[in-house]
Amino acid sequence: MKVAVTGTPGTGKTTAAELVETDLEVVHLNDVIREEGLDEGTDEERDSLFADFDAIREWLAEREDDNGFLIDSHLAHHFDADRVVVLRCHPEQLEGRLVERGEAGKKARENAESEALDVILSEAVAEHGTESVYEIDTTDRTPTDVSADIEAVIRGERAPSAGTVDYLDYL
Ligand code: ADP
Ligand code: MG
Repeated sequence: MKVAVTGTPGTGKTTAAELVETDLEVVHLNDVIREEGLDEGTDEERDSLFADFDAIREWLAEREDDNGFLIDSHLAHHFDADRVVVLRCHPEQLEGRLVERGEAGKKARENAESEALDVILSEAVAEHGTESVYEIDTTDRTPTDVSADIEAVIRGERAPSAGTVDYLDYL
């Protein structure tokens, strides 16, 4: 089984993924990209790396064992997955989380706007279809509650969902 945990930066993917109890190997893909050099250089404007999608696909294919894996990354929905979890967060809270994490105000605002516009959810549905997407709203919820919801997705105890939130009031 391959599970993708995606969402706008700041929705709490890494925090929740670290709490999930599962037999799946938890892959923090952004760390892997940096550590294994699976990039095509630096995006100076965004102060991040350009992901090398072919190299990442190859790396993932090599590690496909019987248990499978859970990928934590805002890029996770761009890869093969049986179930795609999309973490959501109200943009005002998201912006606060990112600023608290030390991100620049401009970057935090850009991500909040992207979250308000459902950018990653739309991409996930376009690439995987509504039957494989599980939207989880993390607004006003603890990381432990969010990880429990992810575990329910892994166990097959949660129905697919998309478009359950509306953050357009932020814009
Ligand atoms: P992501 O991996 O999606 O970019 P992180 O897990 O790094 O997000 O979380 C972003 C910030 O928000 C961190 O400072 C983290 O401590 C905080 N955070 C994560 N989940 C929650 C939550 N459910 N409620 C409040 N703050 C959270
Ligand atoms: Mg993260």
